[in-house]
Amino acid sequence: MVDLKNIVKRFGDLTVLNEVSLSVAEGAVMALVGPSGGGKSTLLRCINLLEIPTSGSVDIAGDRLEFRPDLRVNSKDVHRLRRHTGMVFQNFQLFPHRTVIENVTEGLTTVLKWPKERARERAMMLLEKVGLAHKAEVWPSTLSGGQQQRVAIARALAPSPKVLLCDEPTSALDPELSGEVVDVLAQLAREGTTMVMATHDLRLASKIANEVIVLDGGVIVEQGSSRDIFTRPQRERTKRFIATLT
Ligand code: ATP
Ligand code: MG
Repeated sequence: MVDLKNIVKRFGDLTVLNEVSLSVAEGAVMALVGPSGGGKSTLLRCINLLEIPTSGSVDIAGDRLEFRPDLRVNSKDVHRLRRHTGMVFQNFQLFPHRTVIENVTEGLTTVLKWPKERARERAMMLLEKVGLAHKAEVWPSTLSGGQQQRVAIARALAPSPKVLLCDEPTSALDPELSGEVVDVLAQLAREGTTMVMATHDLRLASKIANEVIVLDGGVIVEQGSSRDIFTRPQRERTKRFIATLT
C-alpha cells in the first residue's frame, strides 16, 4: 500500500534521510522508532509530501511519484498523493474555533465539497467509532488530551485515506490518557487500517505494529517484526535504544 524507494531528504548540506526504502502492506501497521533527530517525522512528512523528497519515489496505493533534484514537482500530483493519506500529530492540532464535529467535517465540506448533511453523517459515524459521539457539539478545549487526540483521529479518517500516518500520537498524553488512544488505534488496526507511526511509546508499538523500523541518523539500522525488534534486537545500539523506551 505504501512503497518508498531510496528516499533521500536534504536540508541544505544536512542529509536527514539517506536512501530509505520501505514497504507497508495493505492492512499492516509499521512503527518507526529510533533516537531523537533520527528522521522519523521527516520520513512521515515525505510520505504525505509535506516535505518533498530530494530524490527517490513514493508510491501509495499504486499512485507513484518520482523525485529528482533536477525534476520540477507538479503540485497537482503532490495534492493527489497527499489525499491518499491522513495525519495525526503529537499535539492534536484541532481547529480551536470549530466544534468537535466541525473539526471532522471541515475537510469533507471544504476540500471534497461534500454536502453538509452527508459530511455530518460520516463525522458522527467516526465520532462513534472513537467513542465521542456525545461530544460532537462541544469545543475541543473542553476535552481531555486523550479525547482531543481521538477527535484528531476521526478527522484524519474522514476522507477515507489509504494510509493513516501518526507522529508520536501518544507522547503529549499521560499514561492513562494515552491508553485510550492506543485502544482506538488498536481497534483501527484490527479493522485493517494501514498505518505508519513514529513513536517512542513501547506499549503502542508493541501492541499494534506488525513491523518495526529503527531509524538512526537518517538510515534504517534495523528492521523486523515488532516481537523480534523489541525482544531480540540484533545491534548493540538498538538494544541500548530499546532499553530507553517506556
Ligand atoms: P524526534 O524523535 O525528536 O521527533 P525525529 O526522528 O522525528 O526526532 P526529525 O524531526 O525527522 O527527527 O529530524 C531529523 C533531522 O532533520 C534533525 O536533525 C532535524 O534538525 C532536521 N530537520 C528536520 N526538519 C528540518 C528543516 N525543515 N530544516 C532543517 N533541518 C530539519
Ligand atoms: Mg519527530
